[in-house]
Amino acid sequence: MACKPINVLITGANRGLGLEMVKQIMKTQRPLSMVFACCRDPDGEKAQGLRELAVDNIIKIIRMDVADPKSIKEAASQVGSLLGQSGLNLIINNAAVALPSTFSATTPEQMHDCYRTNAVGPTCIIQEFLPYLRTAAKDSEMPGMSIRKAAVVNISTFVSSIGLAKDTYKKFPCLPYRASKAALNMMVVCASVDLQQDEILCMLLHPGWVRTDMGGPNGEIDPQESVQSMLEVMSSMTEKHHGKLLDYKGKSMPW
Ligand code: NDP
Repeated sequence: MACKPINVLITGANRGLGLEMVKQIMKTQRPLSMVFACCRDPDGEKAQGLRELAVDNIIKIIRMDVADPKSIKEAASQVGSLLGQSGLNLIINNAAVALPSTFSATTPEQMHDCYRTNAVGPTCIIQEFLPYLRTAAKDSEMPGMSIRKAAVVNISTFVSSIGLAKDTYKKFPCLPYRASKAALNMMVVCASVDLQQDEILCMLLHPGWVRTDMGGPNGEIDPQESVQSMLEVMSSMTEKHHGKLLDYKGKSMPW
């Protein structure tokens, strides 16, 4: 059976892993209908690389500040108009902020900033875009779950793991980020229970320690390797991966 073209949405698509995802999805996930590349400042300097990619008409740059529920609503309305009767097949909740801070030095503002962007943002995004995911799932003739049917992939991190925290905290003391990503994990598992009946796949992926602005120069892999591997994992996902936390090689990770 020939593959139907899919619609994909990526947050934080202007730099780092998000920008690399747009590049690689354009090459490896065809047939594609539209790629909604979301960023908070489409006209700004930091979106120059994305604007250059968007000469390809498949890419639609959408303004979305994931820390602002109103901006998420406006983006959903704009994407809805572009989709028309079509559904949205894949959302990649990628945008995030990381603040390096120990437990003792952390302020309430840092906790709020990380929580707003990394946990509340993805929650609102799934809620606002759910009607379009449902349309994609209903329109699909594919059995079970897959990213070419309807899926939300949420980018988490190994430092969200409570089980590993005693070993990783000293090396990566970023308490607000850790706590907000642990909250993201919980949200995604709960969402996966609610989305089961609609056959919308919902899971979490750790991209590895990657040399981006966030990962820094000592990261273990470059964005190309991380994204290539994550896309291979995503492409092979089924209902078996629903509600799971996997690393970029597809290995299961401890909560
Ligand atoms: P970067 O810091 O390089 O990029 C972060 C992206 O998120 C940017 O596009 C940034 O946009 C965007 N962003 C931040 N806040 C907002 C907001 N309020 N609204 C919209 N966009 C926003 O990070 P990475 O590419 O390295 O990280 C991508 C994902 O991978 C994140 O979820 C991160 O937690 C995760 N991760 C990364 C690791 C690594 O080693 N790099 C390790 C584990 C997980 P802007 O340019 O406007 O700031």
